[in-house]
Amino acid sequence: MNTTRLLPGLIPGVVLLALLAQAGSAADAPPPGMFVAPARAITQVKGDVYRASNGGWYVGILDTPDGLLLVDTLNVPFAKWLKDELAKKFPGKVVKYVILSHSHWDHTEGGKVFADTALFLAQEGFLRNMDGRYPALPGDITDRNNDGYLDVAEFENPARERPRYCGAGGNSVTSKDKDGDGRASPAEFFADTPRPDIVYSDRMTLRFGGKTIELVFPGRNHANDGTAVLFTDERVLFTVDFPADALVQDSMRSLPSACGPFDGHPMDEWIKSYRTLEALDFDISVGGHGSALFTKRDLAEGRGFMEYLKHEVETAMSKGLSLAQMKQSIRLEPYKDWRHYEQLRVANIEAAWFNLKTYK
Ligand SMILES: [Zn+2]
Repeated sequence: MNTTRLLPGLIPGVVLLALLAQAGSAADAPPPGMFVAPARAITQVKGDVYRASNGGWYVGILDTPDGLLLVDTLNVPFAKWLKDELAKKFPGKVVKYVILSHSHWDHTEGGKVFADTALFLAQEGFLRNMDGRYPALPGDITDRNNDGYLDVAEFENPARERPRYCGAGGNSVTSKDKDGDGRASPAEFFADTPRPDIVYSDRMTLRFGGKTIELVFPGRNHANDGTAVLFTDERVLFTVDFPADALVQDSMRSLPSACGPFDGHPMDEWIKSYRTLEALDFDISVGGHGSALFTKRDLAEGRGFMEYLKHEVETAMSKGLSLAQMKQSIRLEPYKDWRHYEQLRVANIEAAWFNLKTYK
């Protein structure tokens, strides 16, 4: 997304600002009057597959004779806008299914707006994340004080440590704090997220309105409950936050934000996840972020980066190099033209080192 356009006058930041724009919050909020609402539009991807945008965030839409299917709903205000727009664009049709791409709040809140007509589908890990324990969250947001609650500091400290790339605004917590204790219990946190009606483990095929839709769990990567949606009739793959994270704009040649040890999942799982998607039968890959239409080749390049990074850091570790030495010597030369290379080269080395030490 173009954050400079959305938040004029601010640094061209990325994840944090994007999350702030999404949540309408908080720590680095622009001066009054500076906030510009995210641009919203419905555009065709191919055939009966569409996307609806909220700034740099997208949801998927499938139009069938029997009704509509969505992938994600983002947040309550957007979902209300979307429901009105769908009624105009597809008169007489209602949303029958909502596939929840993963349980992160910035993609799946607002589902209740469609709960009068829709069934909700997700990977089974989604229910585990909603079962009352501290959920898996993006941006190195973890239960640092082990109290089982989502605290403002747990959202804001990763943003202080890695400004613009990790963490999120504290308003993401306080806006959900209904009992006024300054923090969010897991139940409070998921109050606007629908509970899935149907879950699957590895793959599920949905036949709806003459269409065949495959739900695929690629493995653990950005999330531990992700679903890639393959619209088989259009040969369009819709994925969210993996492989295109919130930093991706018009090109997949973008270094990962690399928060924590790569979101708490082994690098081999990330690589396996890429391969799972690459093995699917599709021509176009789009999703929750990225304005362009991507191809299988873009996915392979993303995997190539992860494999190269892992190899470089593994080799350095086997030679006994310290982390400080690695940060100097590993240049990731083939990727020097990728977006965020200057800002994120060192962070990626550190995340890989942390990951490979943690998940042996
Ligand atoms: Zn996410």
